Amino acid sequence: MKKIKQIVRDVPQHWVGDGFPVRSLFSYGTGNEFDPFLLLDYAGPHEFAPDEAKRGVGEHPHRGFETVTILYQGELEHRDSSGSHGTIGPGDVQWMTAASGIVHEEFHSRQFARDGGTLEMVQLWVNLPAEAKKSPPKYQDLRDEQFPRVNIPDNGGMVRVIAGEHLNSHGPANTFTPINVWDVQLNAGGSFDSDVPESHTTLVIVQDGQVSVNEEPAKAVELVLFERQDGAIQLQAETASRILVLTGEPLNEPVYGQGPFVMNSREEIQQAIADYQAGKMGTLT
Ligand code: MN
Repeated sequence: MKKIKQIVRDVPQHWVGDGFPVRSLFSYGTGNEFDPFLLLDYAGPHEFAPDEAKRGVGEHPHRGFETVTILYQGELEHRDSSGSHGTIGPGDVQWMTAASGIVHEEFHSRQFARDGGTLEMVQLWVNLPAEAKKSPPKYQDLRDEQFPRVNIPDNGGMVRVIAGEHLNSHGPANTFTPINVWDVQLNAGGSFDSDVPESHTTLVIVQDGQVSVNEEPAKAVELVLFERQDGAIQLQAETASRILVLTGEPLNEPVYGQGPFVMNSREEIQQAIADYQAGKMGTLT
């Protein structure tokens, strides 16, 4: 069984724009122990009253990494400078590769805003290796029905494989480096045991319920980061629970980040700011 390195608890909520009440469970400012992951914001569940206003975050750039939006409840609308435009609903995932640079906006969909309802989502930032930071931006629109489901024995629950592989079921997301993203849903009393790749950074986020994680109690909204030595992860649900499991091979490259840009040096950050201001990351039309 893997050793626990750190448990992140009691993270305060703050607003991103006027649409996303998030807890930032980690970010690139706090060190490289989450490498290749840079940031994770968990929003919700939060109840929005019906509203004619457009709630969310207006036009802004990104360079050097990928933003992965996993939606559990609600509906979001997205538009970016590569011409991609789409609406995602519960269970869907938007995997946006900013790479050399993109400009986008993130809003609640018009319909969801008008109807009101519950929003629950994760936004994860995945770093790119230096070479890939220069590649053109792209966008993967992944729908709930594309994710394989793996049943957990003894009516324990199920795993939705978003990226990587679990028991020979492969997630549809294309990634630049080896990454696993598993959405684990456990019934009360259910347990999930799994090996994870030895050299990977491994962490779990309890989104809902009460779970014992490698024999340590954890509840919503808490994050458990493991040591990188060999071993399994073991989740035991006391109540019905939802847990996001992330593993990734560390890049071991220097990380310089500022706001929406994450590069390998201070000079590259200055270049990113200059390129954005010169309109080189495109515009929304
Ligand atoms: Mn963004």
